[in-house]
Amino acid sequence: MSQAGPSASNASPLIQVFDTLASAKRELVLQESGRCGVYCCGPTVYDLSHVGNARAALVPDVIVRFLRQQGLQVKYVRNITDIDDKIIARGQADGVPAAEVAARFADEYHRDMAALGMLEPDVEPRVSGHLEPIIALITTLVGRGLAYAAQGDVYYRVAAFADYGKLGKRKPEELLEGAGSRVEVDTRKESPLDFALWKAAKPGEPAWDSPWGPGRPGWHIECSAMCGAHLGETFDIHCGGRDLIFPHHENEIAQSQGAFGPGTFAQYWVHNGFIDFAGEKMSKSLGNFFTTREVLALHDAETVRYFLLTVHYRSGLNFDVRVDCPECGAAMGREAQDQGVCPACGATPGPEALRTRVRFPGLEEAEDRLAYVYTTLAGARKLLAEAGAASPAPATSPGALLQAFCEHMRNDFNTGGALGTLSRPLADINGLLSAGKGVDKAARLAAVAAFVADMEQVAAILGCFGAEPGVWLRRRRDRRAAQMRLDLARVEELLTARREARAAKDWGRADAIRDEMSALGLTVNDGPEGSTWDFA
Ligand SMILES: [Zn+2]
Ligand SMILES: [Zn+2]
Repeated sequence: MSQAGPSASNASPLIQVFDTLASAKRELVLQESGRCGVYCCGPTVYDLSHVGNARAALVPDVIVRFLRQQGLQVKYVRNITDIDDKIIARGQADGVPAAEVAARFADEYHRDMAALGMLEPDVEPRVSGHLEPIIALITTLVGRGLAYAAQGDVYYRVAAFADYGKLGKRKPEELLEGAGSRVEVDTRKESPLDFALWKAAKPGEPAWDSPWGPGRPGWHIECSAMCGAHLGETFDIHCGGRDLIFPHHENEIAQSQGAFGPGTFAQYWVHNGFIDFAGEKMSKSLGNFFTTREVLALHDAETVRYFLLTVHYRSGLNFDVRVDCPECGAAMGREAQDQGVCPACGATPGPEALRTRVRFPGLEEAEDRLAYVYTTLAGARKLLAEAGAASPAPATSPGALLQAFCEHMRNDFNTGGALGTLSRPLADINGLLSAGKGVDKAARLAAVAAFVADMEQVAAILGCFGAEPGVWLRRRRDRRAAQMRLDLARVEELLTARREARAAKDWGRADAIRDEMSALGLTVNDGPEGSTWDFA
C-alpha cells in the first residue's frame, strides 16, 4: 500500500526541516506542489493555557506564516481535545458536566491565543464532532488485526505493528521490560504495551454509542482520525511539543500507518523544546508555571512572541523569574520565598502577594529590544512621510535584509538566527536617520524605504513589529507608568504648565518644570505639535 514519493518538482525553494523521525534535517518536499498541510496537536481544554502551551502554538503559527510568505498555500489544522480524563476529572471536582468544562476552557484558550496574535487555524476540529471517523478508524484497525475488543474497551495490538518505537527511538523489548516492573497489570490487555483506542463508559462519565458498547475514544486515536478527516491519509507536517513524541505521536503513527499503510501519514515530524521556568530555582510557593494571562498582565503580547522566538524552537528556553518584596521592593531569592520572609525588611508576604511581584527579566530585555525596533521604524516612517512625493516607490523584490532573514528561516525555521540578522540593518538605518549633512538624500530615502518594506514582510512572518510604531511605543509607556504607579494626571499638569511657560517665553520656569519631570525619571520632548513625555 506504499505510495510513490512525490516528485522533486514539488520541492519548495530549499526549505530544510528537522524531522524527528529521520533525526536529521530534510528538504521539504510537499505531497502536492505549492500546497502544504500542517497539523498541530492542540490543547486538552481543562484549565487555562500556560506559557508552554503558548510556545507549542507559536511554533506552528510562525511556520505557517513563513510558508505562506514563501508563496505556499497552507492548510493549518489545530485540534481541540474536548473529551479526556482530565476534563472529566475537572468536571467532577467542580460539580459541572465535562462538556461545560471543555466549552469554557476552549473559549479561554481562544482568548489567550487571540491575545498572543496567533493565526486562527483553517480548521479547528473537536473530538466531540469526530466520533464517526474515530469509530471508523478503530473498526479498520480491528479488521486488520491491529486492534482487539476486551470487555467494552478496544486496545491497539502493539506487537502486530513492526515499526513500533521508530519515532521515540525505543525498542519494544525495552519498553516491555519497563512495563513489567509496574505494579498494576491490566488483565484485559494482551500486552502491557497495548494502549486504549476506546474506553468503556464508567458510571457518571460522558459516553457515545459504538460497536463495542457505550464509551469514549482514547486520546491518541483522536488525532489520527482528525488528521485523516481534514488532511487526508498522507500530509506534510505534524507539529507538537517534545513531550508528545512518545507515546502520543508514536501511537498516532501506529494507528494511521496501521490503517493506511507504510509511508502514509505525516511526512515531517516537528517538535518544539520545553520551557524551563527559572531552572531548578523556582520556589514551591510560586509553583512551576505561569499562565499566559499572568504573563500578558505584565508584558505586551508581541514581547512574549519575540522572546519565545529568540531561541530556536527545538531548544529548551529558560524563562527567568525574579520576585521583589511587596513591602520594600528588595529582591527575594528562592530561600526567602520558601520561608516567606523578606531578608531586607522582614515582611512576611504570602504566596499570593509574592505572585503579584513576579518579574520576568528575559521579557523585560525583549521589550527593550522591541522598543528599539519600533523607535527605528517610527523614525524611518517619519522620514519617508516628510519626503512625501520624493519617497521612492516601494520595492517589488525582497531587499538584502529580507533575503538574509529568510535564509535563516529556510534553515529549519531558525527564528533566533533570523532575528540576529536584523541587528546590522537596524544600526545602519539609525545611523542614516541621525546623519545630517553630507548624506546623499536620494540614497538615504531609498535605503530607508527598502528597510520599511522588508520589515513589513518580517512582521508578517513573525507576528511582531507589525503594529503602528507610535501606538506600540505609547502603549508601552503607559503600561510602565501604571506598573510604577506614576501619577499621570500630575505629569499632564506639568506638561501643560511647561507649554504655557514656553509660550510666555518664561525659560526659567520651563527649565524648572523639565527638572521636576527629570526627578520623576521622565524626559520631555518638544516638537512642532507641542511637548510629549517619555521615560528617561
Ligand atoms: Zn495529537
Ligand atoms: Zn522587604
